[in-house]
Amino acid sequence: MCGIVGYIGNKSGTGMVLDGLEALEYRGYDSAGIALIDGAKGQVFKQVGRVSGLVKEVSKKKPEARLVMGHTRWATHGGVTVQNAHPQANNRQSIFVVHNGIIENFAEIRAKLKTEGYHFDSQTDTEVIPNLIDFYLKQLPTFEDAFKAALNDVRGAYSIVAVSTKEPETLYAARLSSPLVIGIGKDENFLASDPSAIMEHTKKVIYLEDYDVAVITKSKVSVHNLKQDKQTEPKVELLDYENEQALLGDYPNFMLKEIFEAPATIKTATLGRAQADKNLVKLGGLESVLRQLKFIDRIVIVACGTSYYAGLVGEYLIEELAGIPVEVHLASEFKYRDEPFSRSTVLLAISQSGETADTIAALKKVEDYGVLRLGIVNAVGSTIARMTDAGVYCHAGPEKAVASTKAFIAQVTVLSEIALHLGAESKNNPKLFKALLKELNELPAKAQAVLDTADQIKKVAEKYKDYRDFLFIGRHNAFPSALEGALKLKEISYIHAEGYAAGEMKHGPLAMIDASFPTFAIATDSPLLEKTYSNIQEIRARGGPVVAIATEGNKSIKDLVDDVIYIPKALDELQPVLHATATQLFAYYIAMARGYDVDRPRNLAKSVTVE
Ligand code: GLU
Repeated sequence: MCGIVGYIGNKSGTGMVLDGLEALEYRGYDSAGIALIDGAKGQVFKQVGRVSGLVKEVSKKKPEARLVMGHTRWATHGGVTVQNAHPQANNRQSIFVVHNGIIENFAEIRAKLKTEGYHFDSQTDTEVIPNLIDFYLKQLPTFEDAFKAALNDVRGAYSIVAVSTKEPETLYAARLSSPLVIGIGKDENFLASDPSAIMEHTKKVIYLEDYDVAVITKSKVSVHNLKQDKQTEPKVELLDYENEQALLGDYPNFMLKEIFEAPATIKTATLGRAQADKNLVKLGGLESVLRQLKFIDRIVIVACGTSYYAGLVGEYLIEELAGIPVEVHLASEFKYRDEPFSRSTVLLAISQSGETADTIAALKKVEDYGVLRLGIVNAVGSTIARMTDAGVYCHAGPEKAVASTKAFIAQVTVLSEIALHLGAESKNNPKLFKALLKELNELPAKAQAVLDTADQIKKVAEKYKDYRDFLFIGRHNAFPSALEGALKLKEISYIHAEGYAAGEMKHGPLAMIDASFPTFAIATDSPLLEKTYSNIQEIRARGGPVVAIATEGNKSIKDLVDDVIYIPKALDELQPVLHATATQLFAYYIAMARGYDVDRPRNLAKSVTVE
């Protein structure tokens, strides 16, 4: 969480850093700040709230400096106050630090530093870092030595940028489990939590690895790995996505733009991969592990949030097509389990950002098990993309709104391709294989048809905007859709929503139903539709309002429910993609009607880089 931006060069970096912070605001937005080092002077500007507030304040003074760094915070330790905003400084105001992550042993370090005469003005864990550097600077010859000594003392996850008024030409950076990328320019260099903040200025980047410490001047980048205790040769990579994808265009916000990108997302995720005319699936990302894939007998999917629900869709798909048993685990739970794991198991990690701390921890946990580790990731070059043995990129382009929309669509599409890939090998279900391939090619047009009904969905959504609670139900392939639909509504409209397997209603949730507790039923055509009807009847019999998603042409459902959202007929296994587009729009229009900021829901941040 949180966004970091840094600049060192010949120009003034203030504007670049502020623009970069705006691009990264989706990562954290409770407060923001910048530090400028000009000559031997340090200036800090901090504000609670959005980056736009900071921009206003800074533009009154128009400060200039060739070394500037900035931060948007997602508070973990200490309230949302100016004092707790970053940059944090040492007592002497000569060292400034921005930090993403958590210093787990900060209390211990803080106590130790207090006995050395240091005092603390914030409640953050971060404030120990500049003071610890200061402490070591009194004993060691260079700032770099003191920075490394401080890093050796801290436990937890971090990306850190530190600067000193004594060295106005140098940015010091370090990473452990939190992303940090260096952008290489001509007589200038950049730093950011993710490339979207710097891609306007350069396409040449270096992704820092865990334990890397980088020393960055305008003309030189040197990287030392603390764990290996040696200088490393940083690999310069070329960014391959376009700026336009990260811009808003004519849309009022990123969430709506990204929901409307569903058809293009499916097309890109299937391009050259799902070849219906040749009845084959080609996944370049798995080519290097084809031999190992022949021997697998169990797949464990690990993921969080929306990616976890995509994993549940994948579970059914892979089991049906390839006949391989699949389990889906929440990464935050998986890493603390002590379950038996054979070498023929594959661990498949799903993450939009590729930086999700819990999912990374799950991958690290099995590092020594000798199992194949695969990834489904959207952000190219991210930590998970780099730490897995092989994987398939979502290629959905940057997703900026905090609530995931197009990434879910891409993840389900990719999971169906992986199921097809494994199914081609096992020939477990050739009929479904063919039908699924065909459907993948038709899906973009069907997703577009759902989007074309946005105005109708808006009308239905506005009718339900004032309820306090919502239940989402579905069976079999529609069950993960119900879970994801409920999550979307919770995330952006703050309405309490629960997703349930429709068959579970009578085992508890039915007790909540009355006229003030509506249900959103996913009742599209499937062999289980009549059973879902029965569950809807049970809700109606208790006075609960019901809105349903149904398949075009289903007239009978109108007599059963209060409102219907129709979607095109599609293969049962891939309907979750269309359910998602419809439930995303439903949640979106309710949140807009309630007047909320859909791109930046309260208390949340986009890429969850803390435990
Ligand atoms: N733990 C730090 C704080 O609460 C950094 C949080 C972040 O990543 O924004 O200030």
